[in-house]
Amino acid sequence: MHQHTPPQDDGSSITVEPGLIAAEVNKILAKHKTKHNLPIQYKIGPDPSSIDSCMIGGVVANNSSGMCCGVSQNTYHTLKDMRVVFVDGTVLDTSDAESRQRFLQVWSVCGGLCIGGLHVYIGACGCVHWWAAYGCVSLV
Ligand SMILES: Cc1cc2nc3c(=O)[nH]c(=O)nc-3n(C[C@H](O)[C@H](O)[C@H](O)COP(=O)(O)OP(=O)(O)OC[C@H]3O[C@@H](n4cnc5c(N)ncnc54)[C@H](O)[C@@H]3O)c2cc1C
Repeated sequence: MHQHTPPQDDGSSITVEPGLIAAEVNKILAKHKTKHNLPIQYKIGPDPSSIDSCMIGGVVANNSSGMCCGVSQNTYHTLKDMRVVFVDGTVLDTSDAESRQRFLQVWSVCGGLCIGGLHVYIGACGCVHWWAAYGCVSLV
């Protein structure tokens, strides 16, 4: 079974494993809204036509978009954090300041680096911008 944490109180964010089907995530958010009688029905940003079968790992690796979300709410613009395992086993959890710091100490080269096709740039705010070449990393 693929896991997820309960959505944030207002249902505007959720943490999920990469094996969850994207439409399932929207169902979880819909249930959360109904259960707590919330005013807004949130959905994940990307809405690819394949939403009923594609998984979050593929959505993120492909930077999926869709007919409704366009560019402004595609994966890149709505992903808050992720946990990445690099080809050499290095784990980066972008939600964890310590993990980001450790990653920077070990790998930083003038603020930017390239490992096995994954280009990472860590901005001054600590946020991570990324362009993944398919198959080079695992999202966990
Ligand atoms: C019928 C159809 C309609 C589509 N419609 C749209 C659309 O409207 N808009 C749009 O933007 N895209 C669309 N797509 C493409 C869309 O991006 C993919 O369907 C989907 O997002 C990828 O998810 P998947 O589970 O199919 O991934 P897969 O095809 O299984 O994987 C995609 C890539 O991600 C990698 N990957 C998967 N999981 C992980 C992981 N955990 N860690 C690291 N890498 C991983 C795989 O190795 C692969 O390289 C469509 C595709 C199809 C087949």
